[in-house]
Amino acid sequence: MRRPFIAGNWKMHKTVPQALELVEELRGLLEGEEGVEIVVAPPFTALYPVAQVLKGSVIKLAAQDCFWEEEGAFTGEISPVMLADVGCAYCIVGHSERRHIFGEGSREVARKARALLTHGISPIVCVGETLEERERGEALKVVGEQMEGSLAGLSGEDMARVIIAYEPVWAIGTGKTATPQQAQEMHAFLRQWAWEKFGGDVASTLTILYGGSVKPGNIQGLMAMEDIDGALVGGASLRASSFAQIVKGGKG
Ligand code: PEP
Repeated sequence: MRRPFIAGNWKMHKTVPQALELVEELRGLLEGEEGVEIVVAPPFTALYPVAQVLKGSVIKLAAQDCFWEEEGAFTGEISPVMLADVGCAYCIVGHSERRHIFGEGSREVARKARALLTHGISPIVCVGETLEERERGEALKVVGEQMEGSLAGLSGEDMARVIIAYEPVWAIGTGKTATPQQAQEMHAFLRQWAWEKFGGDVASTLTILYGGSVKPGNIQGLMAMEDIDGALVGGASLRASSFAQIVKGGKG
């Protein structure tokens, strides 16, 4: 009932020529793939040129962040209107690098998510605990609070267009993946959380991605878990061959 969903977060990588080379290669490897939502999130500077290559493709475009206002004196920021204009279907918000390096909190994440929805863009809302929080036995509490804050003000109808990404901070870019069982435990908790807050229809159709050192070798074990619907992939999305293998492995 939930369609597998694989998204590649390119972070601060790829000049325009490099981005075009990668996306052209991805089109060659993935065009015609069915039964899976495939998404790439290049840096802002490459969104427009990548969008031109993706016209008519099954691969969808995402941004990595945005600001919540439509326009104005906000030097350095990019609005949801601008993202819609270049053809973004999705936008990542609340990535742990935004939360931990740039000090973003769940209040800001919720404002961004609401603004994106207003402009027809689906937010990919990231949550996840640090290693210290997990070791203190607080992972579920911390992630539950991030869900509460980051989805504040959203209705059940809004939630039908929201994607959740569980990314334990200790697994991002470290080569340490959560075991499928650890990830499943959190995903089941998140679905239960959505059930209590928004009801069974929202919870049962909610797409919940896992992120944290996903590779071609571990995607199948993760996707075999009942509540894991896909992956948000960082490092392994920077090469067409490994991202395409993850997409194909994720489809099952
Ligand atoms: C990410 O950036 O969201 C991520 C999960 O990175 P990596 O796959 O490199 O751990």
